[in-house]
Amino acid sequence: MAQPDSKKIFFENLSGAGKAIAVLTSGGDAQGMNAAVRAVVRMGLYVGAKVYFIHEGYQGMVDGGDNIREATWESVSSMLQVGGTVIGSARCKEFRTHEGRLKAAHNLVQRGITNLCVIGGDGSLTGANLFREEWSGLLTELVEQGNAIQKYSALHIVGMVGSIDNDFCGTDMTIGTDSALHRIIEVVDAIMTTAQSYLALVSALACGADWVLIPEMPPEDGWEEKMCQKLSATRSRGTRLNIIIVAEGAIDRHGKPITSSFVKDLVVKCLGFDTRVTILGHVQRGGTPSAFDRILASRMGVEAVLALLETTANTPACVVSLCGNQSVRLPLMECVQMTQEVQKAMDQKRFEEAVKLRGSNFNVAVLNVGAPAAGMNAAVRSAVRVGISEGHKMFAVSDGFEGFYKGQIKEIKWADVGGWTGQGGSLLGTKSTSPPNQPAKPLADTKALGSALQAFLSLLELLTARGKYDEFCVPMVMVPATVSNNVPGSDLSIGADTALNAITTTCDRIKQSASGTKRRVFIIETMGGYCGYLASVGGLAAGADAAYIFEEPFDIRDLQANVEHLTEKMKTSIQRGLVLRNENCNDNYTTDFIYQLYSEEGRGVFDSRKNVLGHMQQGGAPSPFDRNFGTKISAKAMQWITKKLTETFRQGRVFANTEDSCCLLGMRRRALVFQPVVQLKGETDFVHRIPKEQWWLKLRPLMKILAKYKTSYDVSDSGQLEHVVRNRPKESDASVAM
Ligand code: ADP
Repeated sequence: MAQPDSKKIFFENLSGAGKAIAVLTSGGDAQGMNAAVRAVVRMGLYVGAKVYFIHEGYQGMVDGGDNIREATWESVSSMLQVGGTVIGSARCKEFRTHEGRLKAAHNLVQRGITNLCVIGGDGSLTGANLFREEWSGLLTELVEQGNAIQKYSALHIVGMVGSIDNDFCGTDMTIGTDSALHRIIEVVDAIMTTAQSYLALVSALACGADWVLIPEMPPEDGWEEKMCQKLSATRSRGTRLNIIIVAEGAIDRHGKPITSSFVKDLVVKCLGFDTRVTILGHVQRGGTPSAFDRILASRMGVEAVLALLETTANTPACVVSLCGNQSVRLPLMECVQMTQEVQKAMDQKRFEEAVKLRGSNFNVAVLNVGAPAAGMNAAVRSAVRVGISEGHKMFAVSDGFEGFYKGQIKEIKWADVGGWTGQGGSLLGTKSTSPPNQPAKPLADTKALGSALQAFLSLLELLTARGKYDEFCVPMVMVPATVSNNVPGSDLSIGADTALNAITTTCDRIKQSASGTKRRVFIIETMGGYCGYLASVGGLAAGADAAYIFEEPFDIRDLQANVEHLTEKMKTSIQRGLVLRNENCNDNYTTDFIYQLYSEEGRGVFDSRKNVLGHMQQGGAPSPFDRNFGTKISAKAMQWITKKLTETFRQGRVFANTEDSCCLLGMRRRALVFQPVVQLKGETDFVHRIPKEQWWLKLRPLMKILAKYKTSYDVSDSGQLEHVVRNRPKESDASVAM
């Protein structure tokens, strides 16, 4: 054990021995629920608790019997990539009644279960809270009937929000939402591609939908005419494809349903356009869970078990969720109420707050630096359109700083960026060159490593150059965009999520190729320069056994320990292994070396295969997360530019020479924060082009625990797991923990 630090509570103090935890999924199913169930089961077993599945949601709890079954480590194997919920979900009328809940309580106490982990929407969580509040009353009744033992005096409950259609707590971070977005975007992109290839309309495509009908906001009377007018206006501007999205249950002001076929007939009748209806239906719940949902659900599942262990009779039931990039525990009921408030805000149409047109008419340029990352185009589109609506003239620089130097600068208009959101790569072009004035040291020797760190270094250069050239005394802002996710000052960067999805999808396929064959271990090399983000977090999403990275040095004993771990694993029913290796994790322990070592050491037990993922990780079409993230962060950056321009506009010109006028906008824990680039210098390891501190290192023990390694944990800082670094497992730890 590492030396205990007085601030830290080690997990040994949070033993689950003697406790029984039950996990259930309830309400509509959502992608990623399985990852949550898997994490709860494995973390529960890891801390020494007994874990039970409750099949078919509350119905299974009320019915009892075979619906409540003990879970084993192996029983959650191969679940990560499966859609929906493996343990079943149902709606249950009986649970809404006192009798139903009494039966459910009886079924739980019979098995000694007093910890309940509910994965579902706000209905399910409301039910859970009610159940907990009634618990002691229910037990008294059971005792009176001669049924229960009084010692189970309290029921501990933790919730996780799994729902595709709830905007719980005003975030888009509920389990399942990201996957549903993937499905919708796939379909909408497919429609666009069809139209593109047949009708060659790509340049004229308006991005996204032209009209959206949702139940929460019935359109005003006369909407039919307005919609048709809008559609025909876009056609006269050259657009030949329009997309109208109709949500299930959409109604007009008088409560009359608006169906997709009604909309179709309307468009055909009024405009005569060729109109097709595509009903997404269960497509939205289908397919594979996205990388984001798997990571979210795994993090939340582990956190849920910790929350249960820490709960006392007096703590209110909580829901674990993600705020920005941070796990948080929130009181369950407050959370449900917050959701309803978001709904209210939507009803009040607060989003319609007018954009203030400043009309100050500045010239603002946008450029992409470093290797292309999916979502960059969405970011450019958003900057251009927000800039224009704030009254500026927008310019696009092609080919990064090289184009800037050569004068490849052109005005860019609103319509020029139409349809950019869904496109991969960089439409402006990127070049990893230094700014024109100073081919200075740190830049001269950098390779095109695929790093937005290049942009960061360039901003530092431009800042220094302000002393010599007044032209650089203008506000400058950078938004991080790189698959590697190695930008100081930001937990996440545009493009990393798309890369994670590419890695996860490939790993799923590779894993699947092994089923039915003999015992096999795959060694997969990921990109990232010296940054181990993709290997580590991709490993978590794909259910890997190990991930070798530069940031966590390893030696021959670690490699040996991993081989032994895999040898043990092959004795169980899970006869597959997945090992990720970051491209620059070690000069000598190359992918080939590791492959050969595993091949030799595994001889007779398993065979090995290797795979270098390469540039496919830069992804084709950007993931929904990267589209949204790019759009949001860039809009915020543009608003900041406007503010700074206004602040520094004196005597007819802009003059910005303070450090805080040259910033990086990054996601830090819960919020998007502007940080002067100078201040971030100290946080950067320039040699390896990574931040000195990286939050995701905390997720590494999670991957190990879920792969059955023995690792230590501490849970200082509520709601946040921290890694106790243990460089090398002692011999006794190398074997499987349980
Ligand atoms: P979701 O959890 O996705 O919002 P529902 O609202 O259908 O889905 O709830 C799922 C189940 O949770 C219901 O079938 C019912 O068993 C239980 N439930 C929902 N609301 C309550 C409530 N107020 N009291 C007791 N049980 C409830």
